[in-house]
Amino acid sequence: MLPFDPFALEAPDTWATARALLATPGAKLVAGGTDLLPSMKHRLFRPGLLVSTRRLPGLRDVRETPDGGVELGAGLTLREVARLPIVRSRYPALAAACATVATPTIQAMATLGGNVMLDTRCVYYNQPEGWRAAIGGCLKCDGTVCHVAPKGKGCYAAHSADTVPVLWLYGARLRFVEREIPVAEMYQDDGIAWHRAGADVLTHVSLPAPSGVVVHRKMRTRAAIDYGYLLVAAARGDAGYRAVISAVGPMPIEVVGATPEALAEAAFSAVQPLGTHLQPAPWRKKMVRVEVGRAALEL
Ligand SMILES: Cc1cc2nc3c(=O)[nH]c(=O)nc-3n(C[C@H](O)[C@H](O)[C@H](O)COP(=O)(O)OP(=O)(O)OC[C@H]3O[C@@H](n4cnc5c(N)ncnc54)[C@H](O)[C@@H]3O)c2cc1C
Ligand code: SF4
Repeated sequence: MLPFDPFALEAPDTWATARALLATPGAKLVAGGTDLLPSMKHRLFRPGLLVSTRRLPGLRDVRETPDGGVELGAGLTLREVARLPIVRSRYPALAAACATVATPTIQAMATLGGNVMLDTRCVYYNQPEGWRAAIGGCLKCDGTVCHVAPKGKGCYAAHSADTVPVLWLYGARLRFVEREIPVAEMYQDDGIAWHRAGADVLTHVSLPAPSGVVVHRKMRTRAAIDYGYLLVAAARGDAGYRAVISAVGPMPIEVVGATPEALAEAAFSAVQPLGTHLQPAPWRKKMVRVEVGRAALEL
């Protein structure tokens, strides 16, 4: 059992108090804690103060919008999202994606907001402190080189959040306290600074009325628990097929194609997985074509 460093926990019930607490040096927001707490045990983060979202007002809203869409509070658990009748009937791929995260017990704690804000992952990074120290750390934490691409200048840790590819294709927007960002514009190609929201707090995920069918596919080692090493969402609309591929780099990648075959080829050309996972990168690249083709056929 890995121990924690000491930390304080506050659970404010007003946004003003939350803002003041989050301004404390070394403070970090926590929701379900299913990613952050294991990462703290690995000393990837060492916050002196955790500020919980649990009691903040509005974060568990479910509101139908006049345009036929829905607004989901960032504090809803993945299990709650997957079971909402409006999500199951109008956004079934979101329900499916939530239900493939980790395990049912983790889905009961993990939140939608925590998933959208999930850190990028790499086999050299998501390891205990002693393991990382043995290789001198890496650019993303406690080191100066990237073990995936030693001649490169950046970090290529993989975006691995299951809900994001489907939210992207449903045209979702992320509402923070101070800004609103479409999911498709939220992420960037940098495994260390992988999102554009700064330290802002996500309050809601807004989905417009669905305009086509979306499917979600995930490849992982153990279907009962693991993160994906390849995530694919695909959609069919008036203009043809679209796919969003994730777990292959710091940000999801969108491709389009007139036919399922064209979509699969576009994905194969666009995506270049690196050695961020145990599964060999050339094989994962080949599987991009296969999985995107399967997703398009499912449509
Ligand atoms: C064994 C195991 C397997 C897992 N498998 C998967 C998987 O297959 N797929 C997957 O996607 N995830 C997986 N996870 C990761 C995690 O459970 C989920 O991503 C979960 O949705 C994270 O939500 P949380 O509420 O627990 O986030 P937390 O751990 O509380 O927070 C995660 C990050 O998001 C930030 N954050 C949380 N809420 C907000 C907010 N409202 N605004 C701004 N920032 C916020 C936190 O500061 C933190 O940096 C796994 C975890 C474990 C332990
Ligand atoms: S891609 Fe490189 S820098 Fe980024 S986490 Fe992995 S080893 Fe570290």
